[in-house]
Amino acid sequence: MSSGKRLQVLNSHISATPSAMASEKDAALAAVDSDSPTIFDKIIDKEIPSNVVYEDDKVLAFRDIAPQAPTHILLIPKVRDGLTGLSKAEERHCEILGRLLYTAKIVAKQEGLEDGFRIVINDGPNGCQSVYHIHVHLIGGRQMNWPPG
Ligand code: AMP
Repeated sequence: MSSGKRLQVLNSHISATPSAMASEKDAALAAVDSDSPTIFDKIIDKEIPSNVVYEDDKVLAFRDIAPQAPTHILLIPKVRDGLTGLSKAEERHCEILGRLLYTAKIVAKQEGLEDGFRIVINDGPNGCQSVYHIHVHLIGGRQMNWPPG
């Protein structure tokens, strides 16, 4: 993909309304794994609005702008510390990775997802990752299917 096209897809993904967004796959194929700041830094710094459902000193959870189910929440570490994606995890990240999953359980309960939910961590282009700041998708409120697309 040319850099102009990549920028176009990323801009539409990040700043447009959900209906005008490029598909997740297009956004993922346009995204580049780097240590550059992402849209999530702006959300952490409250430079752009988000619908926060949980926050502590290490983790921020907010509603996905393009929900794939009645409940769709993203959980992110407030400090990325090199974790652009799960494939970049090192042993020092075990604590924050565990905390993200445990917080997902807390938020699932808070959201009333007693009948179950799904946790997803997309990684890299094949995994359809579009934002290179590790994040856990908490998805629920409807029956999920398997296998995933
Ligand atoms: P992934 O494709 O796994 O990298 O997930 C990135 C997610 O971030 C997508 O589900 C997007 O809908 C979501 N997203 C992107 N920008 C925002 C934003 N400003 N607020 C909330 N969610 C966002």
